[in-house]
Amino acid sequence: MSLDASTTTLPGWQHTYSGKVRDLYVPADDEAGRAITAEHGDVLLVVASDRVSAFDHVLAPGIPGKGVVLTQLSLWWFAQLADLVPNHVVSTDVPAAVAGRSMVCRRLTMFPVECVARGYLTGSGLAEYRASGSVTGIALPPGLTDGSRLPEPIFTPATKAELGEHDENVPFSAVVDLVGAEAAGTLRELTLAVYERAERIARERGVILADTKLELGTDPATGAVTLGDEVLTPDSSRFWPADAWQPGQPQPSFDKQVVRDWLTSDASGWDRAGDAPPPALPADVVERTRARYLEAYQRLTGTALAL
Ligand code: ATP
Ligand code: MG
Repeated sequence: MSLDASTTTLPGWQHTYSGKVRDLYVPADDEAGRAITAEHGDVLLVVASDRVSAFDHVLAPGIPGKGVVLTQLSLWWFAQLADLVPNHVVSTDVPAAVAGRSMVCRRLTMFPVECVARGYLTGSGLAEYRASGSVTGIALPPGLTDGSRLPEPIFTPATKAELGEHDENVPFSAVVDLVGAEAAGTLRELTLAVYERAERIARERGVILADTKLELGTDPATGAVTLGDEVLTPDSSRFWPADAWQPGQPQPSFDKQVVRDWLTSDASGWDRAGDAPPPALPADVVERTRARYLEAYQRLTGTALAL
């Protein structure tokens, strides 16, 4: 499935796919495109748009600067994690039209698994726990509530859904069936290692990393399991201000919570269960969401992002 509404024509690149948030380009069949391939091998230009999605809908309008925050924060995290796991970034020498919000990346063979680590219980993990006492088959102690810290971080994989559908949490055995025991073990190990490193770094900055989703693939050039996509951004992770953490209720978070809260409020007039697409976001919701993303960047990296 492909959304190509907001893609830009980029010299040396040809649009190939758009997900909810990112647009992917391959080297064009022209001199500039061939030069990139000759220099770097099989690459993609991964462009983060300002699109924002919630409840599996892409909303309008976008959040100005969001693509830059996602890209710059991912690059910062890739550097923090470089000794733990290789990543797909080749260069940030990109066309001017997408500067700051794109990276040239090695094209990976992605595993069809959303690699999720959770250190705290909320969201789909909480829903599963309330129904079964476990998350993706991992039994948890009784008495946990929304926002509880787990006894130890857990790997709770999900299968990647088509555009417009929900990812589905699956037990580890389903990952073994999909990718084999060895790769499944590697995905679990790397996901937990990344979570533990990032949780510690975030905690030092007063931020709780409640959970995060990684996308891993195999680098055909090296055979190594490699981090792709974006990492540890407010779109792929739940970040909570540590000083406001209070289990037993939904936590304030540095992400599109403002958007979700507005959509589910009476003010939006939107029926989530109905067929109608969500209404356009009001200017103040856009502005508050933009501020949350910028604050997440600043808190985590310690520097402000000049947009
Ligand atoms: P969402 O992330 O919101 O669940 P999505 O994954 O469909 O939705 P995007 O994140 O917008 O959408 O799209 C990025 C796409 O690019 C994903 O399909 C991701 O797996 C893929 N991708 C990212 N990095 C690489 C890479 N290095 N090689 C190949 N594919 C990649
Ligand atoms: Mg994605």
